[in-house]
Amino acid sequence: MQFIKYSALLAALLGASLANAATVNGSFISKSASEIRGQLGGYAQPTIYLNQYACGERQLSAMACGPYTISVGSQFLQSQENQHGNYAAKMVLAHEWGHSIQFTRNIRKSAPYQELQADCTGGSFIKYAQTRLGYASFLEAAVSSARAAADWAEHGTPSQRDYFTRWGYANGVTKCLSALPR
Ligand SMILES: [Zn+2]
Repeated sequence: MQFIKYSALLAALLGASLANAATVNGSFISKSASEIRGQLGGYAQPTIYLNQYACGERQLSAMACGPYTISVGSQFLQSQENQHGNYAAKMVLAHEWGHSIQFTRNIRKSAPYQELQADCTGGSFIKYAQTRLGYASFLEAAVSSARAAADWAEHGTPSQRDYFTRWGYANGVTKCLSALPR
């Protein structure tokens, strides 16, 4: 929709965020990392690098490479916030943390279950953020972001991403790792 595009552009030009979108900067990343570590730090201990191409990628988005490195771009994460709502970017970070857990534990699932397990882990963080950190649930923003980035082959269909994000929210990370549905 033109209006939404225009709003996002205007917000970017002003260096401001939309009313319901967090500003993605270094402090947003370090705060989010420590929040996620509080829930998932027992499973993996990656460092989140902002705008540093830490995975050697050509274009910044969000990716985990190996157990210790998550590389993200602020523009990409800000667009998640602006398009899908407050804290959609935290879900993206928790999803990547899920991949760090997979690297740490040597989990290799066939497509799209590798990605859907990361969605599940991300969903579990939303419940944690709500119940332990006092955030309003950002499950709908997260589901919207996941559905929009569904590509069938690798990440699954929009409805699969929707289902596994909500399943992680409902069932928690332990079940994501031990009893992921097929
Ligand atoms: Zn992923």
